[in-house]
This record gives sequence, C-alpha cells and structure tokens, in this order.
Amino acid sequence: RTAFVANVSHELRTPLTVINGFLETMSDTPSLPAEQSHHFIGLMQKEGTRMQNLLADLLTLSRLESGKSPERSPIDLSGLARTLAEDGEALSTGRHEISINVQPGVWINGVYNDLYNGLSNLVFNAVRYTPAGGKINISLKEMPSENRFMLPPVYFAVEDNGPGIAAEHLPHLTERFYRVDKGRSRQSGGTGLGLAITKHAVAEHRSALQIHSEVGKGSEFGA
Ligand code: ADP
Repeated sequence: RTAFVANVSHELRTPLTVINGFLETMSDTPSLPAEQSHHFIGLMQKEGTRMQNLLADLLTLSRLESGKSPERSPIDLSGLARTLAEDGEALSTGRHEISINVQPGVWINGVYNDLYNGLSNLVFNAVRYTPAGGKINISLKEMPSENRFMLPPVYFAVEDNGPGIAAEHLPHLTERFYRVDKGRSRQSGGTGLGLAITKHAVAEHRSALQIHSEVGKGSEFGA
C-alpha cells in the first residue's frame, strides 16, 4: 500500500507541477502575448486530461480488484472486436496498417464495459508503441470445444510488428505503473495501469492474458 500511494503521488506530481508552473507564469506576466497563453492553456489541458485518465483507471482497477463484478449479459464479441478495430483506426489516424480477422457471430456472457476497457488497452498500446508505417492485426476466433453443452472458448489477439519487449520485462508488464518505455508511455498519455486493468478484466471472464514478444520483431497480446 505504501508503494502504491508513493506511485500515485508521483504520477500526480508531474502534471500538477506543470499546471502550477504555467499558472504562476501567467499570473506574474499579465501582458503575456495571446499566442503564448493559448499554448500554455493547451499544455495545461493535456495535463488535466492526464490526471482525469489516471483517476478513471484507478477507479476501474479498484473495482476490478474488489472482485465485485456487475451483472453479466450476452455480448456480441465479434461486434466488440470490430468496434475496437475502428477505435484503433481513429487513434492511429492512418499511421498504421490495421487489419482485422474476426470470426462473425461469437458471443460470450460478460461485462461489456470491463471487456471494452481491458481489450481496448491492447489495441491502443499496439497503436501507441508501434512506429508509423507499422502493421497491426486484430483477430478473434472460436476454438474447438469438446463439451457441446458449453460455449466454446474464444481467443482475441492483437499483433503488431513494433519494437517488441525484452524478455526480462514480460513478467512485470501487468504490474501497476510498470513501464518499459517511460518516455513514450507518458508522451502518448499512458497511465501505466492499462495492462493491470486488462489482466483483471480478462480474469473476470475466466481467461488469462498471454504475452509473446520479441525485440525487433513485435508483440502479440491475447486472451
Ligand atoms: P502504459 O499506460 O504505460 O501504456 P500499460 O500497462 O498499458 O501502461 O503497458 C505497460 C508497458 O508495456 C508500456 O509502458 C510499454 O512500455 C509496454 N507495452 C505495452 N504494449 C506494448 C506493445 N504493443 N509494444 C511495445 N511495448 C508495449
């Protein structure tokens, strides 16, 4: 708990320092050119959004960790996978080649928002960490099942040909605030809580996050 509080304080300190610094400059310099104040306001807004995202992720994670899951309902997982691909496209703004390989008509019983949060992190990470020009594939398939009275197992995966992650980091990726590329994570608005949320969200759906990655080749995150 002590480490967690220290981490959260550290995460909040940077945006607050930026915001307070600009506010001080602006109040000390009443004649600041409009162009410059606009620029400062934009930077402050970015830091404000960062804190908002952090709080939203903290609340999501705390609820998931409490094990109290909301009521389940039937979810069109194929539709969700297509929505995730569209959201990935929107974030990429044409910088990546995103392909999708989704088996139609796959349904599961679950909690839509948790699944969306958990799986979208995988898509958004692929977009955020893969350099422009890279390839991303989003796939969903039903696995053969021996028990015909139960819903067949399904596998959702996001593959990218980005930088990949060195083996020593892999066991730590789902720890809260663990980052391999700190600069890139912050610059692209990462809270460092994404994969911790994904781990809990897929566990809530009786699955486990699988990570395969090789430096220089790319990564595959699936559940
Ligand atoms: P963040 O908010 O920092 O992205 P996450 O928990 O989502 O936090 O991810 C943890 C770390 O794992 C990231 O900081 C990044 O270094 C690494 N990572 C996640 N996905 C990828 C990926 N597809 N390619 C390369 N590195 C990744």
